[in-house]
Amino acid sequence: MNSDDLVKKLREENDLLRQELGERSDFLSLVIHQLRTPLTASKWTLHMACNGDFGTLNDQGKIALARTYESNEQMIRMLAEISQAHHLGEWKLSLNPRPMDISHCITHALDAFKPEARMRAITLHYNPETNPPLVIADPERICIVIQNLIENAIKYNRRGGTVSLATETKENHLIIMIHDTGIGIPHDAQRSLFTKFFRAENAKKTYQGTGLGLYVAKQIIDLHHGSLWVESIENVGSTFFISLPLVQGTHA
Ligand code: ADP
Repeated sequence: MNSDDLVKKLREENDLLRQELGERSDFLSLVIHQLRTPLTASKWTLHMACNGDFGTLNDQGKIALARTYESNEQMIRMLAEISQAHHLGEWKLSLNPRPMDISHCITHALDAFKPEARMRAITLHYNPETNPPLVIADPERICIVIQNLIENAIKYNRRGGTVSLATETKENHLIIMIHDTGIGIPHDAQRSLFTKFFRAENAKKTYQGTGLGLYVAKQIIDLHHGSLWVESIENVGSTFFISLPLVQGTHA
């Protein structure tokens, strides 16, 4: 085969591979969408039932319903993480950083997790600063990171535990701290924490998960030229730290 024929053959093979990858990606998007639709519909019916909208339940019924609601939520979030990991490539190309007030994002995420925290008797703490400095970030993507970290802080906590959020300015960065009183992360596991599909042994035993949330979070923070790290003691708790560049001299 001469070199022209070889180049032509390689190009054709490349086109075929690209088409195949595109089809697989479309297929995954379709599966995620088809699974999410009925789960989201059940979420609202379960929510109404938990609120007593269809009549009063005895204690056993309430507990069963609360567990079903929690499992349904867990499946919705797992699908969201799979979808986020799937879209990371596109996000890299379409990132839209602009000055934003991170406290809106934190308040919004905490509101969304209130029912789950209440069910597990977990107290959520956050006192937003009155005049917070603005960071340069894509609000849509950064809110995903905050949501993923709060979700974990609740999920890997104990009944009756606490989740506390705080922000602090350090030089030209804003540090966001998400602290929990949960199962903690074994020292050996901390090195691999932000890699795809990684799950620590103490978490696998008790909780369902994809091992994608922290991977997605780290990729998003890297895209913003920020940092994400953790300090944790097993059986005591964990604090996740996000550092993002500040807009110099601006406040919300
Ligand atoms: P998932 O929660 O679906 O397993 P993540 O990527 O969000 O995936 O987290 C990866 C792993 O990191 C978890 O399986 C768990 O071992 C550990 N982890 C994350 N957050 C916490 C936390 N707040 N407390 C204890 N372990 C955590």
